[in-house]
Amino acid sequence: MPVYLDNAATTRPCAQAVAAAVDAMTVNFGNPSSLHRAGLDAQLIVDKSRKIIADSLGAAPDNIIFTSGATESNNLALRGASAAYGRKRRKIIISAVEHASVEETVAALEKNCFEIMRISPRSDGRIYSEDFLGSCDENTCLVSMMLVNNETGYILPVKETFTAVKRRFPEIVTHCDCVQGYMKLPVRANSLGADLISLSGHKIHGVKGAGALYIKKGIRVLPVVTGGKQEKGIRSGTESVPMIAAFGAAAEALTDDIGQRFERANELKKYLLGKLSDIENVAVNSPEDCSPYIINISAAGKRSEIMLHFLESKEIYVSSGSACSKGAQSGVLEQFGIRGKRADSALRISITAETTETELDLFASALREGLEKIRG
Ligand code: PLP
Repeated sequence: MPVYLDNAATTRPCAQAVAAAVDAMTVNFGNPSSLHRAGLDAQLIVDKSRKIIADSLGAAPDNIIFTSGATESNNLALRGASAAYGRKRRKIIISAVEHASVEETVAALEKNCFEIMRISPRSDGRIYSEDFLGSCDENTCLVSMMLVNNETGYILPVKETFTAVKRRFPEIVTHCDCVQGYMKLPVRANSLGADLISLSGHKIHGVKGAGALYIKKGIRVLPVVTGGKQEKGIRSGTESVPMIAAFGAAAEALTDDIGQRFERANELKKYLLGKLSDIENVAVNSPEDCSPYIINISAAGKRSEIMLHFLESKEIYVSSGSACSKGAQSGVLEQFGIRGKRADSALRISITAETTETELDLFASALREGLEKIRG
């Protein structure tokens, strides 16, 4: 069996998600917009998932808009809210370590006369809420900060930042990309202080092709995709019922034991770090208090891609950079002060609570072998 340690890229769909998707493809395959019984049954499936996801965030079903994934949710949040609120206020503030689906979207808005401020980590590798607050002013319409960085697992100070921003500038809309935190850390919309929250189904053992955007009551988001006015007119297009069903089923399966799974992931992380500390010239890039699900390391200046393929030859799958940038360096590690050979040799190991010690042993011994065999 291959050792899959790339769960930040995608996860294996759980049995409940697969069963829900199959049901929505074989039995309940109607179009939720149809007025007949088959349509109604499909709508009920979408509504069930909407309620599960809303409940998991401590929100109401009305707050949830389904999308094709978090890339679309981030686009909808940033483009939709800036279109609604950015006529007079033209400044958007994000962290400098956001996923490409946020960074590239604000880069596009920048070309459309928005001023973008990117807040970098300080020399200690941490992002400070004061730096966000210090950049906010009367001209700011939107602040966006991810909860967990997808490359290093660093947990950003979202709650402190959004609370401070809202206290001084209640009119600023706050957005959080929660993709790598959802179902891993406790995520409640109210306590996070986020007006908008992006989620992805396939990162939580759902199926690729469904995501969601939480929109706080009263916050306006103009549609990016227009058409048949599905999803309250905010995201037109026939809902992908099978993928949405899988998203809901996966969320339902995980929601009750986030804490237990976190503890298990922490144990596994400690176990792996223990193993790695026995291997010479392996540096840990993730901060100590990062999400236990993501561990970023550098292996003695051996190029990530070469090591990745060496591990692959042993059926061990990890990632260099983030999968979404096809392994290309995103500049995020540099933002965290990881540069040069150390950045070129970075590997991301991302686990689930089901990862086993045996799998981590196999990884550690293959890494040791790779360090011996790979030249340069
Ligand atoms: N945001 C973060 C932090 C991610 O890690 C990812 C995917 O890796 C995305 C957004 C994009 O999610 P999706 O694959 O659902 O479009």
